[in-house]
Amino acid sequence: MSAHFWHKASSIPLTTLQIARLSEEEAWEWFVKMRWGDSGEQVCPRCESKKKHYFKKTRKQWCCKDCKYTFSVTTDTLLANRKMPFGDILLGMLVFANAHKGKPALEMRRDIGHTYRTNYVLAGKFREAMIATRDESMMSGDVEIDGAHFSGYIRKGRKIKAKKTDPEVPKKYAVKTTEEEYHQGEKMGRQHRTKYNRRAGQFMPNRRIVMVFRQRSPNKGEGAVRTLTAVIHRETSAEILALSRKWIAKGSTISTDECPSYGKLKQMDYTHLVVNHSVEFSTDEGVNENQAESFFGRMRRAEVGSYHRITPKYMDLYAAEIAWREDMRRKNTAEQLFDLGGRILRAGLSKDWRNHCRGPMRKDENLFWVGKDPRLSRPKSPYSKPTQSQ
Ligand SMILES: [Zn+2]
Repeated sequence: MSAHFWHKASSIPLTTLQIARLSEEEAWEWFVKMRWGDSGEQVCPRCESKKKHYFKKTRKQWCCKDCKYTFSVTTDTLLANRKMPFGDILLGMLVFANAHKGKPALEMRRDIGHTYRTNYVLAGKFREAMIATRDESMMSGDVEIDGAHFSGYIRKGRKIKAKKTDPEVPKKYAVKTTEEEYHQGEKMGRQHRTKYNRRAGQFMPNRRIVMVFRQRSPNKGEGAVRTLTAVIHRETSAEILALSRKWIAKGSTISTDECPSYGKLKQMDYTHLVVNHSVEFSTDEGVNENQAESFFGRMRRAEVGSYHRITPKYMDLYAAEIAWREDMRRKNTAEQLFDLGGRILRAGLSKDWRNHCRGPMRKDENLFWVGKDPRLSRPKSPYSKPTQSQ
């Protein structure tokens, strides 16, 4: 029996200890390799000249032979204007890649030092690199789609509430709704987002749905090869069809669960296979969407066990991070580090995290929707006071 991938010696050609022992000079050489490869030639970020540029050794900068532009290894990358030493960033990248279910900034801080905010911004840049450089070309063959709800949880109350009808419960702790009102909330809508939460007595405006698209490997037993994610507000046919048109080539086979929103996929030149999750996880014919469930298994564990709170504002970044971790699951530590480093150095300047501490941070979430902004048409609570009719 062959050993599990992560039990083989070849899965860890690079350890945290090795990276921690590198000098600052050596760490810098790693970054040069990650950006321009082993050839030893540098490409000017302004004019793309590959000539032998003049190297200013003490400043670790090159002066372009053609346009005289002075650049360093981090010019025009996510790490531009960095203040952290290269060794610390490299170590941060490795411990981030090594964590299977997400690496919180406070944990990263224990490994590489600096402040919480520094680590938070650094991890944010890693995630931005993953989403900025992901392959968004059309998926084909066997594709699995699924959605899962995140964020918008309601805290438990201080007291355990009981039904008013229970004679044992003192009046002041009893739920203050009648039996009729108690069941009214259930009719409000299919989605959790719009569902009236009986315990909390309110709607959940911060509820979001992470949609995942996973392309299966043509070889049986190899799982998924590529993952794309999007954050949506409601799982309706309009959003599902728009995303499918964007990412899945016509003629592909799509496997989903029995959610009625997927019903129209058949009319879109796709072969649509359904597995009813209330009955089975894989039909006798082998129809399943277990690769998509595998993604959510990891994402849910990242949420519950590592990050604890993923808010809508940066949910797209966290989803992209988990997608990257899923796609890199069979790559060894060195390949993971080089993949992450390569992405960081070719993603361009940071949109979300540059100068983050001084204010210009992201204003809004990255939400995908079709038609009107779904956040504006939030259903009204049946318990709110009726407004004066015209
Ligand atoms: Zn140049």
